[in-house]
Amino acid sequence: MPKFEYAPAPESRAVVSLRESYGLFIDGEFTPGVDGRAFKTISPATEEVLAEVTEAGPADVDRAVAAARKAYEHTWAAMPGTARAKYLFRIARIVQEKARELAVLESLDNGKPIRESRDVDIPLVAAHFFYYAGWADKLEYAGYGPAPRPVGVAGQVIPWNFPLLMLAWKIAPALACGNTVVLKPAETTPLTALAFAEICQQADLPPGVVNIVTGAGETGRALVTHPGIDKVAFTGSTEVGKEIARACAPARKKLTLELGGKAANIVFEDAPIDQAVEGIVNGIFFNQGHVCCAGSRLLVQESVQDEVLAALRRRLETLRLGDPLDKNTDVGAINSAAQLAKIRELSEVGEAEGAQRWSPPCDLPVKGFWFPPTVFTGVSQAHRIAREEIFGPVLSVLTFRTPAEALEKANNTPYGLSAGVWTDKGSLILWMASRLRAGVVWANTFNKFDPTSPFGGYKESGYGREGGRHGLEAYLDV
Ligand code: NDP
Repeated sequence: MPKFEYAPAPESRAVVSLRESYGLFIDGEFTPGVDGRAFKTISPATEEVLAEVTEAGPADVDRAVAAARKAYEHTWAAMPGTARAKYLFRIARIVQEKARELAVLESLDNGKPIRESRDVDIPLVAAHFFYYAGWADKLEYAGYGPAPRPVGVAGQVIPWNFPLLMLAWKIAPALACGNTVVLKPAETTPLTALAFAEICQQADLPPGVVNIVTGAGETGRALVTHPGIDKVAFTGSTEVGKEIARACAPARKKLTLELGGKAANIVFEDAPIDQAVEGIVNGIFFNQGHVCCAGSRLLVQESVQDEVLAALRRRLETLRLGDPLDKNTDVGAINSAAQLAKIRELSEVGEAEGAQRWSPPCDLPVKGFWFPPTVFTGVSQAHRIAREEIFGPVLSVLTFRTPAEALEKANNTPYGLSAGVWTDKGSLILWMASRLRAGVVWANTFNKFDPTSPFGGYKESGYGREGGRHGLEAYLDV
């Protein structure tokens, strides 16, 4: 398949006006940190410094929790659901109005292609606020009793892979149910959360309902262990999730954890191969593979292995890697030097353990953090690249002969977040879906997200559900 040469089509940065430095968003205002510490956030595509951001210490977390408590007790929890809904609808509409600005900002700070931030992340952010705005005045019909009460103040910690979308998954249901929040974005991607703080101001959200404290792991730890927090919501690595679970248990804080994954994308011999190849590409190369539910293990039926792999290689040769702001880019930058080092290390382990490594010819930019789309064949279940979450654009290919073998291999993982099944037979889809130990099973598609649909894991992928009616439960005292 020839790769057409396209002229550069960069999205303009002019829509974004970055400040030189950002304070913390506490009690409706941007405020400096108590101890004056700050860190820089960079563009992972160019290593250019974008802005300086305040590092919140324990005293700042205290202030944010106090503001959230005050807003919870005096304003938000007592407000009728219809009034809370108005604010959420207003936020959703402002997100839509600012969609281009938010998409450019997300691609700058995160490194993801503008095509994805513009067409996936930001529309889904607005959709989440619209969806949960609709629930705010209908909670008594949600199946949690006639007058379900909020939990209180929620401490929310989110990762860097979908910065604004994870914020929306956390804040929209929390607010709809009458809780107030203190949220900590990831150290490498704080900018869209700070833009969201400005949106809260623009929406006239009462002070203290949403508080944003920027910082690194220490800030997150101070937040989740704070005695003034009633509920903790975390998305991130299994390792940190376990630490948070241990910290929350003695205080009996309500907790939801959305952790890692090692999803199987299972292609049967009767699958529509071209569509399946698109699903494989979307499954693992979308967002550079920085996706907790990524289809990082391809399980392909032995009889069609050669056909699928040949089509996959042809398709990967057409992917464009480079400037995240170019509208033709398919694969953007790796989010950080640390993540790149982890991807490199595990890929080297894959080779050392005997798997065959392949990448399409592709020039990597000199500046920034980059990794080419990579496929490992000849992978066995014992290989580390088949067991550990790489969280990068790296696919491990395994084969199977029978549905039972596919099922056993798919479930042979400590994780259980998602899975994909590709076949022409509805009966086989149902047979597999009812036996796969995964929170989400996609059939003849992959990585489809919708605010009405619950999302969450089994086993070491965490517990609790986000999205849909089920997502309300985490923020109600039930
Ligand atoms: P982390 O789990 O460390 O980070 C997630 C969030 O938790 C970030 O906001 C982080 O802050 C914060 N945090 C870190 N330590 C603590 C703590 N002790 N208490 C409270 N909050 C804390 O993920 P990493 O970014 O370090 O990525 C490591 C690996 O985790 C990746 O390689 C990937 O495999 C996996 N991962 C999985 C994700 C998923 O969605 N399932 C998302 C992100 C990562 P800060 O960023 O400032 O350190």
